[in-house]
Amino acid sequence: MEELPRILVVEDDPRLLTMLEELLSGDGYDVVTARDGQRGLHLGLTQKFDNLLLDRGLPIIEGLDLLAKLRQSGIQTPALILSALGNPADRVEGLDRGAEDYLAKPFDIDELLARLRVLRRRVAVTVPVLFVPGGSLAVDSRTVTLRGTEPMLLSEREGDLLERLARHPQKVFTRSDLLSEVFADADDPGVVDTYVHYLRKKLGRGVITTIRGIGYQLGPEQ
Ligand code: CA
Repeated sequence: MEELPRILVVEDDPRLLTMLEELLSGDGYDVVTARDGQRGLHLGLTQKFDNLLLDRGLPIIEGLDLLAKLRQSGIQTPALILSALGNPADRVEGLDRGAEDYLAKPFDIDELLARLRVLRRRVAVTVPVLFVPGGSLAVDSRTVTLRGTEPMLLSEREGDLLERLARHPQKVFTRSDLLSEVFADADDPGVVDTYVHYLRKKLGRGVITTIRGIGYQLGPEQ
């Protein structure tokens, strides 16, 4: 079963919060709620969400400050700001401070749901894709697409190993680097060779190079 998209809703008006929670649950979201900016910040920093729906006027930390703090912490989750302040300058301020979208209250429910669907599609296109020799690795789905072939699904460990190499294509990794970074629960460096072998079987020998006496690197020998 596909996982439900998770959304964090921060809104201090209890009736509106209940309404949003019911509406979004009914539209297929896993909804997490908070009623002030501090609680919202804590949740935003400690849990993973697909979307944020933030009221602008919030107790303790107001909505745009909350969003700015999340952005400063490297959290890029697409955010829609709801606000009673709806003139163009307010919208511009919201967008300038890190929101992807801005909707003035009172809002139309269908419009809110439609705008959230747009934000979700935006997430889908920012899924990281890394270059691998002859094609690409889609990190989240662990699929490799080599030119002229069907996408191939990797196992979790194959995916982790290839991602590690592909994120640093110039770097030569020792077996012990890869053992500690990818196979932290194993202690035999032979597991690294085993998974390199699996990847070469699936993707061809050119995908990973053996650097003799040292370890491995992405790509065919130069
Ligand atoms: Ca409010």
